[in-house]
Amino acid sequence: MDKDFDKKVGALDPKFKEKINQLFESMHESVSMLYEAATHDEKTGLYNNKFFETMLEMEMEKAKRYQQKLSLLIIDIDFFKRINDTYGHMKADELLAELAKVFMKEARKSDVVARFGGEEFIILLPETDLNKAKKFAERLRQATKKNKMLKGHELTFSGGLTEYKKGDTKLKFKERADKGLYKAKDTGRDKIVAVK
Ligand code: GH3
Ligand code: MG
Ligand code: MG
Repeated sequence: MDKDFDKKVGALDPKFKEKINQLFESMHESVSMLYEAATHDEKTGLYNNKFFETMLEMEMEKAKRYQQKLSLLIIDIDFFKRINDTYGHMKADELLAELAKVFMKEARKSDVVARFGGEEFIILLPETDLNKAKKFAERLRQATKKNKMLKGHELTFSGGLTEYKKGDTKLKFKERADKGLYKAKDTGRDKIVAVK
């Protein structure tokens, strides 16, 4: 705001000035709430799929232009149907939110952690090569297993991991990570499979 504007507002009746301030504040609050709803998943507080797609596009462009490393991890909780049946939907929902916190704690601020849908998560790791990404994914796997939220059940997930290659489309990049995930499921779960 320029000085002239400040002067004009300063000359206003204090009650009117307060009203204007309140209006600005509530507008700011509404915009923040709209932004949050448009970009985040309600259940877990993580980024939603739509926002993830936007970030994926941006990060792939950066990786291509500046020859930076970029890795992608897709996670699917093992036997989640069984968890629902045994502990109920409410507890299973709480678990998704709890797991989101575990992932956020392990991830860097620059990583993009999102709910891919259902009991699946997707994590984009900028400036991270496949080897470093493997270490990160392994840390997540261990932290998840250590989670004591479900009594009598060791929580595990399977993951597919890949690194960005020149010429990749979003689909190709994601399909490679997904291929790793399928292999992890097919070969016994509770593991991460990297696909080059
Ligand atoms: P696996 O991935 O190891 O093959 O087994 P799974 O039991 O996890 O298999 P699947 O992916 O077929 O099932 C996922 C289940 O997750 C199905 C659905 O009922 C449940 N689910 C998906 N989204 C939610 C959710 O938001 N909340 C709860 N409580 N359950 C969900
Ligand atoms: Mg699934
Ligand atoms: Mg599953």
